[in-house]
Amino acid sequence: MMLNGRTASGTFHDGDLLLNHKGLRLISEKKESLAYASGPSELKEIDLQFSLEDLETIKVIGKGSGGVVQLVRHKWVGTLFALKVIQMNIQEDIRKQIVQELKINQASQCSHVVICYHSFYHNGVISLVLEYMDRGSLADVIRQVKTILEPYLAVVCKQVLMGLVYLHHERHVIHRDIKPSNLLVNHKGEVKITDFGVSAMLANSMGQRDTFVGTYNYMSPERISGSTYDSKSDIWSLGLVILECAIGRFPYIHSEEQQNGPSFYELLDAIVRSPPPSAPSDQFSPEFCSFISACIQKDPRDRSSALDLLNHPFIKKFEDKDIDLGILVGCLEPPVNFTR
Ligand code: ATP
Ligand code: MG
Repeated sequence: MMLNGRTASGTFHDGDLLLNHKGLRLISEKKESLAYASGPSELKEIDLQFSLEDLETIKVIGKGSGGVVQLVRHKWVGTLFALKVIQMNIQEDIRKQIVQELKINQASQCSHVVICYHSFYHNGVISLVLEYMDRGSLADVIRQVKTILEPYLAVVCKQVLMGLVYLHHERHVIHRDIKPSNLLVNHKGEVKITDFGVSAMLANSMGQRDTFVGTYNYMSPERISGSTYDSKSDIWSLGLVILECAIGRFPYIHSEEQQNGPSFYELLDAIVRSPPPSAPSDQFSPEFCSFISACIQKDPRDRSSALDLLNHPFIKKFEDKDIDLGILVGCLEPPVNFTR
């Protein structure tokens, strides 16, 4: 038999035929074509057929309030993915709505938003096949390095802002859950936003569209107080995340001793009533302090947009300095057996 292509993982393919150590199989006519230019290189070589049987679990890499994230390998081409498994018992009509929302997410064409390649619903479980980000999240990074220096933060910020410009200005959607664990990094130093639409989906599954599932730490004052909100609420969250990465603690925790932080109600009260946190001017550059202040304003009208922030002096300052975030994250341990 003549087979004309061999992938790095030892899989041969010829037209609709695949052969590797697992045996021989046909790829159906209805292929899941993956046309993402930024996707893993093997995906450009071959059209993948996705079913859960095609994926083998390597290990659990994360746990969230909604479910478990596993590192999986596609048996036929060897490509790694993150499989997010969310348990939900929902009615058929709500499920259809969720799958519809996921389809919109799957159409993402931005290199700073994690690609969702496929979604399945089976026996009350939604499984999302996501682009694998091999250095985990910004939460994993700051757990190891404690603080991130301004030049690296500028590089992180620029990439998150590019993702937010795409979501806010091109897709006209709000993320609603920007936080360290939803900003993922890989060894190349790429930073991408994930879980777009997932919190809305979880709330939806409980039949309450506006119920929030997850942490309130990064939620803007207008959302906490139940006012209308827009894309500027993501900008508040981004400002808090970046300030946390710079000072090494969640900004509403005031000292090292206050390890556990304010209680749930104290925190909500502080976000709504207290003056917003800021970057200490004796420790950080004027550009950084100004950037944080442009994000963390209590009145959303006083906050800059993602597009404006991309042109902020803090981002511009490091733009032509060729700062390699890959060096920072490349030396970190990949997150393994992460437990909450
Ligand atoms: P919550 O569910 O409360 O919002 P969370 O964001 O930490 O919290 P998950 O979204 O389930 O929960 O993710 C859990 C962890 O899994 C993340 O912190 C991250 O370390 C890891 N993770 C998630 N998606 C990926 C991915 N695509 N690639 C690599 N690691 C991932
Ligand atoms: Mg998440």
